[in-house]
Amino acid sequence: MSKCKGYAATTARAPLGPYSFERREAREHDVVIDIKYCGICHSDIHQVRDEWSEYQEESIFPMVPGHEIAGIVSAVGSKASKYKVGDKVGVGCYVDSCRHCAECKQGLEQYCSVGTIWTYNGRDKEGAPTYGGYSERIVVDENYVLRMPQNLPLEACAPLLCAGITLYSPLKHWHAGPGKKVAIVGMGGLGHMGVKLAHALGSEVTVLSQTLSKKADGKKFGASHYYATSDPETFTKLAGSFDLIINTVSAKLDWNQYLDLLKLDGTMVIVGLPEKDIPVGGFSLTARRRSLAGSQIGGIGEIQEMLDFCGKHGIASDVEVIPMHKVNEAYERVLKSDVRYRFVIDMATL
Ligand SMILES: [Zn+2]
Ligand SMILES: [Zn+2]
Repeated sequence: MSKCKGYAATTARAPLGPYSFERREAREHDVVIDIKYCGICHSDIHQVRDEWSEYQEESIFPMVPGHEIAGIVSAVGSKASKYKVGDKVGVGCYVDSCRHCAECKQGLEQYCSVGTIWTYNGRDKEGAPTYGGYSERIVVDENYVLRMPQNLPLEACAPLLCAGITLYSPLKHWHAGPGKKVAIVGMGGLGHMGVKLAHALGSEVTVLSQTLSKKADGKKFGASHYYATSDPETFTKLAGSFDLIINTVSAKLDWNQYLDLLKLDGTMVIVGLPEKDIPVGGFSLTARRRSLAGSQIGGIGEIQEMLDFCGKHGIASDVEVIPMHKVNEAYERVLKSDVRYRFVIDMATL
């Protein structure tokens, strides 16, 4: 074990502050990553504040959050062959899984039926707590490490590891592409990635946002249409319009109202997690054989595919880079949606 500096919440809802902890030494198949940047995901805030206790077995404090990790390989284990010192790599929401269940064998490690090992607020196979990317270094098995796009700034690619794949995976699974009308609900950290990716995949993209305040950005990211959901006319005008709706909003929306915007056989996919259950009426689904679905990040192979796709199409996140000590302030700003569009911590400031 060796000492590692980071930032942690020592107890639930405590502000984050400097914290020192132990990381394992590299095992045979491990990669040691010198972390350069880590994105701030809304789920970091939920977990630091222990707001998901109903859905999780436990919350582990002190908690070092962070699962949009971008860095440079500084060492590799004796049998690790996929990466070498100096490579630009990333780590997303999980660092291991059972590798044997039906889901893992299909490359769907994020749905591992034995239990995906989350990058932080989880336990590794020895039962030790995992610590995330708000830290100087991380040690991860090479099979759960990703290769970052070579041609794009590393800081702007960090958010691809959660926000990017969260949108890419459902867009691919539900066949976004040429001839398809896709709506992205919400224009935050997730939504702005959805617009860029859906557009690059060839679909006709519409943004449904509370107001028109980010309309110019939406158009720049590739949206053909942009509507305010605060205007009730939006819902009458767009009824029956879309093949696919990706809903990134974690606030309480009336899902029935959005389901009515789907065409025959259309699907609305939930990727934002509202704290309270939202009722859905049967008629909203039966009327046009519509589906309501959910999706959670992506498998390792699919994350790599997404990163390669982003490199090829020049897609990254729009980021505001902050020093480590501003993380608590940044959390408050995320809660007020006061960021365009993702905060990324510069780990050199740790
Ligand atoms: Zn996340
Ligand atoms: Zn598994």
